Formats: sequence, C-alpha cells, structure tokens
Amino acid sequence: MGYLDGFKVTFAKLIEARTTTSYPEEKRDKPARLHGRHVLNRYEDGMEKCIGCELCAGVCPARCIYVRGADNEPGNPTSPGERFGFVYEINYLRCIHCDLCVEACPTQAITESKLFEFSFVNRSDAIYTKAELVVGDDGKPQHLPWEDWRPGEDEQTSAWMRATAPAGDASYEGEVAWSGELGYGVRAPELGQRGEDPEPPPVPAQADDHGGHH
Ligand code: SF4
Ligand code: SF4
Repeated sequence: MGYLDGFKVTFAKLIEARTTTSYPEEKRDKPARLHGRHVLNRYEDGMEKCIGCELCAGVCPARCIYVRGADNEPGNPTSPGERFGFVYEINYLRCIHCDLCVEACPTQAITESKLFEFSFVNRSDAIYTKAELVVGDDGKPQHLPWEDWRPGEDEQTSAWMRATAPAGDASYEGEVAWSGELGYGVRAPELGQRGEDPEPPPVPAQADDHGGHH
C-alpha cells in the first residue's frame, strides 16, 4: 500500500508549521542593515543636513544622483552650511542601493530606509525629487502614494548602524558619532557584532623572529 505512505506525507504537510508568509499582506522582518529608499535628513532644529557638496553624486557608481547646490539665503538659511542642496534627485531605475552615497556624505544628510516596496508606472515617478526625499516636519520619511510603508521600516537607517557599530575600528564600538536628527534625536549606539558576542576574538600569535623563512 505504497500510496498510503504518500498520503501520510501529504497530510503531515497540511498541519506542519508554515515557513511562508502571505506577502504582501504580511511582511517579514527586514535585516538590520537592509538598504532601501533614501531619505534626506534634517537636524533637530529642522534645518536640512545637505550642504549641496555633490560628493554623493561623485561617488555613485550608477550615476543616478543629480545634485545642484546653491548659496544659503542670508537671514533665512536652509542648511547650517554656506550652501544647501537646491536640486536633489535620485533615479531609482538605476540605483543599486550600494550605500556609497551614504558613506560619502560628510553631514549624514543622505541615508537609506528599509523600504524597497515601491513601484511606479512611469519614468518621472522613478526619479525621486528633493521634495519627495526630504523628511517631513516630524523627521520621518514621507509616505508617497505608491510606497508600501510598514512599522519599523523607517526606524534604523543603514548609516546610523554603521556610524555606531564596531564594524570598522573597534575603538568606535558604542561611540555615537552622529548629529541629532529631527524626529529621532540622538539615537543610542547599536550593539553590533561585538555586542552580540562579548568574547573578543583570540589575538593571533606573533611570528617567531627566528623560525621564519630565510
Ligand atoms: S545607493 Fe549607490 S547606486 Fe544608489 S544612489 Fe547611492 S551611491 Fe548611487
Ligand atoms: S547628500 Fe551629503 S554628499 Fe550629497 S550633496 Fe548633500 S551633503 Fe553632499
């Protein structure tokens, strides 16, 4: 009765815990360092962080950022710098979400959220403008009609993780090297890889001066 064995497998599968989720009704938690749609951040006083330096555009391997800086209006500045990002555009038909723009930015103006569920039906919607990228008066990313934001997707931007995590020089572990952000203030440092594993890696043995090759 070999076919009954087959049905045993079938019925067992019916009651087994499911590993799939009903996407898009339900989304899985995203990895902490996921790179998604960018935001242009503002300081806690509402000033824009972008100073229009174009470093992000220069480093972008996909050549998808267009920035034009302009001098701040005396008495009514947009950013605390001499200049501000007058035009800022990202073409999402080209962006590969490598995060190099975020690394290059000297003022932490551009960071990436975890949102990647955004789609468009025409080219102009794919080119995000400064008006769409800059965070709102609550410091949070704007929710555009064609984007599917869920709780947590704006919580920890990738650059914040890197700035406080021990991924690079271990002496920066736990150090907050990040200016206050509108809507978030100064966030606590991320624990990171060392925080999850308190045991430091073993120090490699020093080479023996007399035992090497001659
Ligand atoms: S994430 Fe990479 S490809 Fe996208 S805009 Fe930034 S530098 Fe360019
Ligand atoms: S986002 Fe940063 S790197 Fe790009 S122009 Fe503005 S300040 Fe410069």
